[in-house]
Amino acid sequence: MSIQSHEIDPLLRAKITRLRAEVCALHALLPSNNLVAWTSGNVSARVPGAELMVIKPSGLDYEDLTPESMVLCDLDGNVVEGAYKPSSDTGSHAYVYRHRPEVGGVVHTHSTYATAWSARAEAIPCVITAMADEFGGEIPVGPFALIGGDEIGRGVVATLAGNRSPAVLMRSHGVFTVGGTGRDAVKAAVMCEDVARTVHLARAFGDLAPLPADQVDALHARYKNHYGQR
Ligand SMILES: [Zn+2]
Repeated sequence: MSIQSHEIDPLLRAKITRLRAEVCALHALLPSNNLVAWTSGNVSARVPGAELMVIKPSGLDYEDLTPESMVLCDLDGNVVEGAYKPSSDTGSHAYVYRHRPEVGGVVHTHSTYATAWSARAEAIPCVITAMADEFGGEIPVGPFALIGGDEIGRGVVATLAGNRSPAVLMRSHGVFTVGGTGRDAVKAAVMCEDVARTVHLARAFGDLAPLPADQVDALHARYKNHYGQR
């Protein structure tokens, strides 16, 4: 049974208002990190404790996005509140939230270097410490899937299952990342493009030197448990 707009109580309303502002602000990080061209790319975040998500409206310019223009949807991708049509990837974001309860944010971009790897249907091998840290191994390739329904979401969930990477390269398309929050998912998208570019350049000039699996494990564990401010 999906929630209706009039059923939103003041506490939930406050969460949604905060999340609209947060998701709007996170969208500004996509062009500022050179991850998107024109209106491509989108960010969504789950409303904590509710079967709801906030996502980008379809086809609006990044500079025109406002907290109010973000679209509130249920986790079947139906619009609950919004003046605009939601992103054409809404069904796939919703599928990810339904099947990965720990995921609080999803990002999609066609960032150049990562998408170039996806065009070759080639996983990015884990050959630098930054990859071991953030991704815990290679960044895998997911299946080719048509845009519009939840087929992409199915491919994302299936590919990330049993994988430490929060990023997947959807074949011949682009990047999907997941995170505990919208910000975590944006970070994974930024890091994915950064390592895609570095490993591309490395391979253009010679053979890649793989990192041993035990070193990847050690780096990933240190990064997840000790890095940054606690
Ligand atoms: Zn796309």
